[in-house]
Amino acid sequence: MKTILVGDITLAVKKLCMEACVILGEDVLQALERAYASEESPVGREILGRIIENAHIAKTENLPLCQDTGMAVLFLEIGQEVHFEGGSLTDAIHEGVRLGYRDGYLRKSVLHPITRINTGDNTPAVIHTEIVPGDGLKIIMAPKGFGSENMSRVVMFPPSAGMDGVKEFVVQRVEESGGNPCPPIVVGVGLGGTFEKAALLAKKALLRPLGTTNPDSLLAELESDLLDRINRLGIGPLGLGGRTTALAVHVNAYPTHIASIPCAVNIQCHSSRHREIEL
Ligand code: SF4
Repeated sequence: MKTILVGDITLAVKKLCMEACVILGEDVLQALERAYASEESPVGREILGRIIENAHIAKTENLPLCQDTGMAVLFLEIGQEVHFEGGSLTDAIHEGVRLGYRDGYLRKSVLHPITRINTGDNTPAVIHTEIVPGDGLKIIMAPKGFGSENMSRVVMFPPSAGMDGVKEFVVQRVEESGGNPCPPIVVGVGLGGTFEKAALLAKKALLRPLGTTNPDSLLAELESDLLDRINRLGIGPLGLGGRTTALAVHVNAYPTHIASIPCAVNIQCHSSRHREIEL
């Protein structure tokens, strides 16, 4: 049994918030550079160059990558041998978000859905936990901008829709989103499970490093087909035309009920931010 003090979790979450909103992952930068090298549209290339330059400035000057520093989404993989001490784990995470957004001078974007009154400190966060074997704790912080989040959808298809129906839906979702999610985007697809499981699968798919191949050959083929179709839409960087509409399509799948094909599409903008730590 390993003991982790919740105070250490607060400090870790604070640091993750401040870093995630400022530092773009190396995998995303490399994907943007590959897109810059291959983009045919002069305007598209210009935009990709500015996005890359913006990422370098953000990192060197410790400034947010985007004015929308998002709602804090946290994924915790908690080893079943871990014991937390010193208070509530949930409170500790929220305190970390509060401090990170305050001390990082990050925009507070969270409010009550009916009154629209801002909570003032970017809490509460959205927290997903998973119990895993061992005595480790992994925390992933993924600030989510809502220009792209708003373009996401879940559909419960009947089995008769088949994979053709699923593919059509994913491509159409990207087409209808146009420039709204700040392309080039990453498209997370969740297939199977239940209504809420599909959405979570899609969001988790966004965390996979760009440039990696899905270990499931069936899904890898689906990802490649979808990416090809999406990048033939001509939406391009920031919706101003070009071949680079998506940097990647990532699909996660889970068994489902005989009566359904749940399908979720979670769209991530080019500010594809997430940082992680293991305690
Ligand atoms: S969708 Fe992304 S890039 Fe666009 S404003 Fe929101 S956080 Fe920024």
